[in-house]
Amino acid sequence: MRAGRIAAPKDTPARTAQLLAGLRRCGLAATTPPDPGLGPLKAVHAEGYLEFLRTAYGRWQALTEPGPEVLPNCFPYWNAQPGMPARPPCPSRHIIAEAGYYLGDLAVPVGPATWDAVRASASGAVAAARAVAGGEGAAYALCRPSGHHARADRASGFCYVNNAAIAAEILCAAFGRVAVIDVDAHHGDGTQAIFYARGDVLTVSVHADPASYYPFFTGYAEERGAGAGEGCNLNLVLAPGAGDAEIAAATRAAARATLNFGAKALVVALGFDSHADDPIGVLKVSTGGFRAVGETLGALGVPTVIVQEGGYALPVLADCLAEFLTDFA
Ligand SMILES: [Zn+2]
Repeated sequence: MRAGRIAAPKDTPARTAQLLAGLRRCGLAATTPPDPGLGPLKAVHAEGYLEFLRTAYGRWQALTEPGPEVLPNCFPYWNAQPGMPARPPCPSRHIIAEAGYYLGDLAVPVGPATWDAVRASASGAVAAARAVAGGEGAAYALCRPSGHHARADRASGFCYVNNAAIAAEILCAAFGRVAVIDVDAHHGDGTQAIFYARGDVLTVSVHADPASYYPFFTGYAEERGAGAGEGCNLNLVLAPGAGDAEIAAATRAAARATLNFGAKALVVALGFDSHADDPIGVLKVSTGGFRAVGETLGALGVPTVIVQEGGYALPVLADCLAEFLTDFA
């Protein structure tokens, strides 16, 4: 749903084809990751939520006149405060109640292949993180669907399972202190929420001002973490229309925070929806603008997992990825 209309999805398989082309342009061969099982997902997500994703489509079919996909028609009240440790459990086990509880907006339908796709996407993040934990300097995970809006117990914004957070947990176990730098145009609200009270994971998000852009309810500079995580969350907000110079400066600020934090490993949540041509974007970054982003993050010189997030301008995706990776390397 977009502005009250059913809109054609922007997250299409053609994105994957373009990103694979970007890898080939860099001389990188993609491999299909093995299925790691649910263990790495359970390290981040509530078991009831994963069980919902696994079973929702089948349960939906038992409704009278079910639609083609699971989509909620009612939502529980939720106050959106990032310091709120947990929601009360869903008091009803009815599929319509659970759809409203676990699906946070109307951009996360659950169809017959959703669970398989979500697991395959997460498998890439797990494989990349395990490669880096095992000694590789860097690895790129071509994840689709994206993950950074997914909370421990809630899907939203095209995201079901938080691939970057899953990678960060694996790196935490291997390296101790980890930073997540999210340069997608949207605030990484799910990643922020998952690590908000953690002192061993720094979360930094560079994104368009949520006062006028999704996800609206979080992503503001005053959200700095809570409890043991006080000071370990940094939101770097870009004004609508910001371009190459602004994203480069914000990425440098994110890198400085990562150095000050003493991160031993890094997860980059990489989105290209800050590109000027993006059909749902408000920023004006050029294709070449991702070179400085890649160079700054690569210069940190720490073991790094790069997880693909958004980016919907099909004609430029391959070049954006190639520009980023070339200068990162
Ligand atoms: Zn995005």
